Amino acid sequence: MTDDLRIDRVETVLVDVPLRRPHRFARAVMDAQPVLYVFVRTAGGITGVGEGVVPAGPWWGGESVETMQLVVERYMAPVLLGRRVDDLHRVMRDVGDVIAANLFAKAAVEVAMHDAWARCLGVPVHTLLGGPARTSIPVTWALGTEPAQVVVEEALGKLDAGLHHTFKLKMGAQDPAADVARIRTVAEKLAGVAGVRVDLNARWDRLTSLIHLPRLAEAGVEMVEQPVPGAEIEALAEISAALPIPVMADESLRTPSDAVRLARLRAADIFAVKTTKCGGLRASLDIAAIGAAAGLPTYAATSIESPVGTAASLHFACAAPGATWGSELFGPLLMAEEMLTTPLHYAGGHLHLPSGPGLGVELDPDKLRAFRRD
Ligand code: MG
Repeated sequence: MTDDLRIDRVETVLVDVPLRRPHRFARAVMDAQPVLYVFVRTAGGITGVGEGVVPAGPWWGGESVETMQLVVERYMAPVLLGRRVDDLHRVMRDVGDVIAANLFAKAAVEVAMHDAWARCLGVPVHTLLGGPARTSIPVTWALGTEPAQVVVEEALGKLDAGLHHTFKLKMGAQDPAADVARIRTVAEKLAGVAGVRVDLNARWDRLTSLIHLPRLAEAGVEMVEQPVPGAEIEALAEISAALPIPVMADESLRTPSDAVRLARLRAADIFAVKTTKCGGLRASLDIAAIGAAAGLPTYAATSIESPVGTAASLHFACAAPGATWGSELFGPLLMAEEMLTTPLHYAGGHLHLPSGPGLGVELDPDKLRAFRRD
């Protein structure tokens, strides 16, 4: 009975998970994270779950949990029903025939199919991805756009507790000169004890980047993420060539084709891969493989996933040989409520692969009920 792999039900549940503190981006702030859970059930009675999530709304890439719910229910579910969860390539090809973009929504479905498929076989998801290249991954902590003293205090607290050893600061919320001065203060305070990286979230233009970023490198910032808009790959290449520190591509990198273009133009030194923005586990593996072949390491980035999406990203990051630049899979640590019956295992600055079939995580039904949006 459990070996009937045909999908007989697709269900979505929208929740708002409260955060421990507001998280500030250049263009958005969030104090709860909206999450769309997509449940894919087989006729054999096995249910897989995937997560649709974006950082604080549609500003990042145009999708939101509300658009994902509509796209999954109205357009994807009819394609999925009656199909086998292990027929992934053809199902996702057919989904692509119905929906052109919407990679975040597709990722939720693709991960749910992997979870259900792996559970049917009684194996972890990473087994379907080739097995672990590693069993844990370092986790960087993200700091918001608040004043220097506020973020330094938060960073020192994390360091003292032995939780994180590198920090990524969000930039782009204020005038570039003031923002650079703020980051230089933070870098000076943390010099010698922690690595400091910055993420512009595509907020600056080419010239602002060429003028101001070298001063961050001088101050000891070790990496710069996506200073210019995603489409401006040529400008990103110029900035990469001009800076003595690595540049990471995030908004510029969603598809394997983007990865090829970035590699060919030497527009970035590191690939930020999110299973969410990239449309799921398979495309994420493809992108990491293109990076590895071009000498560009992959970093497991986040859309601030709850533990379900974080587990999916962890299975990818552990199964991708090229994911050698660590991660920022801190989403569950930012959340004030534990959504799982057994929490993910963070220890020694790393997130460790769970054991058990599928993603290896179980949502707590009480929490699902408590935070469900009506
Ligand atoms: Mg980013």
